[in-house]
Amino acid sequence: MRQLFVAGNWKMHGSKASIMNLMTGLNKKSAEIGATKVAICPPTIYIDYAQKCLATDKIALGAQNIAIEPVQGAFTGETSAEMLKDFGCQYVVIGHSERRAIYGETDSEIAQKVVTALKAGITPILCVGETLEEREAGNLEKVISTQLNAIIQAVGIDAFERIVIAYEPVWAIGTGKTASSAQAQEVHAFIRGQLAVLNAAVAEKVIIQYGGSVKPGNAKELFAQPDIDGGLIGGASLNADDFIAICTAGE
Ligand code: PEP
Repeated sequence: MRQLFVAGNWKMHGSKASIMNLMTGLNKKSAEIGATKVAICPPTIYIDYAQKCLATDKIALGAQNIAIEPVQGAFTGETSAEMLKDFGCQYVVIGHSERRAIYGETDSEIAQKVVTALKAGITPILCVGETLEEREAGNLEKVISTQLNAIIQAVGIDAFERIVIAYEPVWAIGTGKTASSAQAQEVHAFIRGQLAVLNAAVAEKVIIQYGGSVKPGNAKELFAQPDIDGGLIGGASLNADDFIAICTAGE
């Protein structure tokens, strides 16, 4: 039985005032969290502030991005894995579709970031997912396999014991359109099946989150699917009541 894992991706949202407000709500409601693992990923500059506001050990910290380069150096504007670790980050989102589409991150760069995170002892939350055009052209499985294979080639299948996968159909992110629970389950089973070909035990254990307009109203049904092990939550993670309702939806 896999433990559910829900992570909040705050994206580039927040101010000291709004984060204080959100954290106050999360601290208050955190007592409702049961066995589900929970993490929040604030913008890098607010990670320390969010940690200072955090008054519960039920919520872990993560980051939204990481430098490829494993060590400190002349990399203007970047944040290293060791720096994130120094500020208590246990997780880092890697390969989010916004970073792929807006910042042109390639599978190879994403794979290098996964290598760097693993070396530093930070768990990557590796995002994979297809655009609507790719789905409609019948290329869903090819796209997901290509994204996954780039990582498998870089770190090997056994490393997936220390990697969380987030299946995020690009057409469902921030659009209010959720994949139906059946559509999501189908892709999650495909991902697990791809890993199982290489190592069935690792595939059975790997956490595969669903992401894309998850809300309190649809989380329960999504998380009840056999291969959906929680969610990566964007918009709804900015509201304490909604986020905690999602974090407790599978319990
Ligand atoms: C995300 O940012 O990863 C995401 C899934 O966003 P939203 O929940 O807002 O669709």
